[in-house]
Amino acid sequence: MLEFSIDKIAEYCINLYDKLPKSGKPVKDEWTVLSGIVQFDKVTKVCDVVSLGTGSKCIGASKMSPAGNILNDSHAEVFARRGFLIYLYKNIVHTIENKPSIFVKDKNKFKLRENIEFIFYSSQMPCGDASIIPKIGIEDDVGNIVLSSKRDAEEDSCDIESKRQKLDIYRTGAKCLPHTDQDPKKPGDNYHLLGQVRTKPGRGDRTLSVSCSDKMARWIHVGIQGALLDMLLSEPIFIKYFIFGSGVPYCEKALQRAFLKRNCDISIEKMLTYIPEFYQCSKIFPHIREGDCIRPAAGSIVWVKTKQNLLEVAVQGQKLGLTKKKANSLSCCLSISKYKLYKLFQEVLIKQNELCNNICGEESLRKLEYSKMKKKSERYQANWCATKELFFKIWTIKPDMWNFTLNDQ
Ligand SMILES: [Zn+2]
Repeated sequence: MLEFSIDKIAEYCINLYDKLPKSGKPVKDEWTVLSGIVQFDKVTKVCDVVSLGTGSKCIGASKMSPAGNILNDSHAEVFARRGFLIYLYKNIVHTIENKPSIFVKDKNKFKLRENIEFIFYSSQMPCGDASIIPKIGIEDDVGNIVLSSKRDAEEDSCDIESKRQKLDIYRTGAKCLPHTDQDPKKPGDNYHLLGQVRTKPGRGDRTLSVSCSDKMARWIHVGIQGALLDMLLSEPIFIKYFIFGSGVPYCEKALQRAFLKRNCDISIEKMLTYIPEFYQCSKIFPHIREGDCIRPAAGSIVWVKTKQNLLEVAVQGQKLGLTKKKANSLSCCLSISKYKLYKLFQEVLIKQNELCNNICGEESLRKLEYSKMKKKSERYQANWCATKELFFKIWTIKPDMWNFTLNDQ
């Protein structure tokens, strides 16, 4: 039995989104995706939205910035997760300062309190593998109703049509990786390959960002905290429940395939610390892609529960409304950029001398490059390598270009 209501979780996220200013939200004829992370306290039974993200855009490979100041991927799921990382960093600082926090000290690292769990909400299924869904379910029921109310003579044609519909699938815009097997793109259910790692569609040149199905599967396998935070935590953080919105295609089998099975022959129980649960709520996010909503909104919003609550709007991976001069200034980049998150990571290490020495050794913290620091996350890298090899089998190749340090001002 769940201790919280699925619909309430979605409602908390949608209500909070509704209260945010208009900037970055869809205008007429536009749609977007809303994702959020909700904290659940098993003792007090209190649910708290701790981060929100919106958006469905991704920049092409040629626009990526080695300075870590431009976000490659502005899909809602990714924004909500990066906002969540800020929430975690802030709580770690609270623990150091002996203020109320979701973490407790654990030797020189930090451990999530046992009563805290996290729930991930998204208004629709993630792009990529989980979005490849057979067109049955609602259509199937409709087909049956039509059949039973028609006379015998008409039944045959209805039957054929309904069978044809059954074979069709909802498609994803995300593409299979280059140099691997490609989608056959034949009619009906023979359009896509299943269980593939895919890259997100983008305007202009190809993106190197993998689909949200791939990213979320990664969070389920190695934790949502990523390489840097993993060095500060005694254990990775796993999302226990995933809730998806109504009014859009949903299929638990597709989620199981994308997140837990892929084309894997080994049992997932052996690979996973925690097997998450999947649900669909009955709430419909008001800006889903339907009817007249034909264009995706250009902007992405990130909101994080902090002391003053953080709210930023992004376009093409940078803050909305930046002047040309400010666009290159690192101090003006989004709080969820690689650069700013690396800064939060270093701020914790500066306060934790012993841990800092363990991680950096003889090297100077300020001079350590971002990409080099991530490689120091031994437990994370080992888990990630095993997941790539056993579960995904293949992954996107990104240039090792984020070699910035915080001195690069
Ligand atoms: Zn996506």
